[in-house]
Parts: sequence; C-alpha cells; structure tokens
Amino acid sequence: MDYEERELILELFPGTSPELLPLGEILYYRDGEGRVHILEKGPPELHLTLEPLGTPSAPQVCEACRRHLSGSALAFFRHPVGGRWEHVRYLILCQDTPSCAEHARPERLREILLRGILT
Ligand SMILES: [Zn+2]
Repeated sequence: MDYEERELILELFPGTSPELLPLGEILYYRDGEGRVHILEKGPPELHLTLEPLGTPSAPQVCEACRRHLSGSALAFFRHPVGGRWEHVRYLILCQDTPSCAEHARPERLREILLRGILT
C-alpha cells in the first residue's frame, strides 16, 4: 500500500472521506481484555474497538471472514456507530482473531471499521 498516495490525496483534497482513500494496511487483533481492534494505518489512522458480549448458542457466520462456525468458536461484539453510544451495532466475529485475520479480506475489515467511525 501506498502511504504516499494516501498522503498526496489528503494534501490535495483535505477532508476526503476515508472510504475514498486507497486501502491502508489493516491491523486486526484482540487485546488482553478480549476487545477486538480494527485499525487502518494512516494518514489518517482509523481505529475501531469492539467489546465482547458473549457467545452465540448456535452455529453462525463470522461477519469478517464469512466462515460458518460453531457458536463456541464465535462471539458477539458491539461498537458505537459514528463514535456515539446512542447508536450501537452488534456483530458476530471469530473468537480466534489471528485465524479470522488470515481468512478475512482487508476490504471487508475496512467496511466494518468505517461503519463504526463514519456518521
Ligand atoms: Zn472470522
């Protein structure tokens, strides 16, 4: 990816919506407290944190990697939409984030990320 291309666009067109920028490097990981982070390297750096809520009882499809997995391999997560907790979005993701990251397309992770931070 193109840090420089991204930077150039922002220089020429400040305030360009992140969805129109070339895809940056995406980091997708789980922290020690079980929260999931999706981060797109900048400029500008974009970051969404998802809180774990529990495990579905039946098999479901992971919304990041689209694999169909047993309930115990998955977890519910939530995040504020547009940075405001009055509007919350729930989704199902793998418990095993490294394995999910191997199968999830970066474009899909960005979609999830942008839905959380754009208003
Ligand atoms: Zn997954």
